[in-house]
Amino acid sequence: TLKGKVSLITGSTSGIGLATAHVLAEQGINLVLHGLASDAEGNKLAQQFQQNYGIETLFDNTDLKDETALIAFMDNAIEQMGAIDILVNNAGIQHTESIDTFPASKWNDIIAINLSAAFHTMQKSIPKMREQGWGRIVNIASVHGLVASANKSAYCAAKHGIVGLTKVAALECAEHGITVNAICPGWVDTPLINNQINAMAGNDKLTVKQAKYKLITAKQALPEMTDPLQVGELVLFLCSNTARTITGSAIPIDGAWTAQ
Ligand code: NAD
Repeated sequence: TLKGKVSLITGSTSGIGLATAHVLAEQGINLVLHGLASDAEGNKLAQQFQQNYGIETLFDNTDLKDETALIAFMDNAIEQMGAIDILVNNAGIQHTESIDTFPASKWNDIIAINLSAAFHTMQKSIPKMREQGWGRIVNIASVHGLVASANKSAYCAAKHGIVGLTKVAALECAEHGITVNAICPGWVDTPLINNQINAMAGNDKLTVKQAKYKLITAKQALPEMTDPLQVGELVLFLCSNTARTITGSAIPIDGAWTAQ
């Protein structure tokens, strides 16, 4: 049973991270919640999790672009919670533009948040996991860790990078009861994507249903977006004893996007 373990999920104030937090909390897993929310909002969220699931929680809104602050956040989280048993690197941002004009500042931010932050959280979490002889690291990558799309240079570089980092960590941790995997979602049903659908409906004079089908099937064979909770359930499965020999994998959940 995973009850009483501690999980840190970066970017868990929204979207996939928040859904994953609910799935893990249901199992009685204590949570370090994290994301760009105010202290008031974040502490309220942490309190709700505490009350609804009877777990211990901590909230932190460290900006992952700030390396020094991130390291201090990890030290504090480990001190307060004892250890991070389950690390979920989920926080991420996107910017779409061709390389010619892609702002260098955006490149640096995306590499820092989507890739380098995971290096730092892993470096801080692994020693205790190794001491305990048990740990789970799940990196939320993307299909863009496996294949490319135009105008996503920094995002694809960071996501391919985190798939590589996942493989190296899996090798280094293999004899210590620690598994390290990446999840590679295709379209996930979040407000971000729904905005794109509404924009497409307007521009192409389509109904929302038609626009949704068009957007999804431009990349996926299966015309349905993944629900954030499905990603959370996959994280939970990777934490289970059944999944103990799955490590170093980059697992698509993508409606056959990368099968083509
Ligand atoms: P989201 O925008 O709903 O959530 C992102 C989270 O990251 C938020 O909690 C936000 O506060 C946090 N965050 C962003 N910048 C941060 C910073 N500088 N410092 C600290 N925290 C920061 O996004 P989402 O759709 O849930 O995406 C979560 C992850 O899943 C990302 O890594 C994304 O690349 C990946 N992903 C998403 C999709 C999709 O279709 N939505 C598909 C594949 C992969």
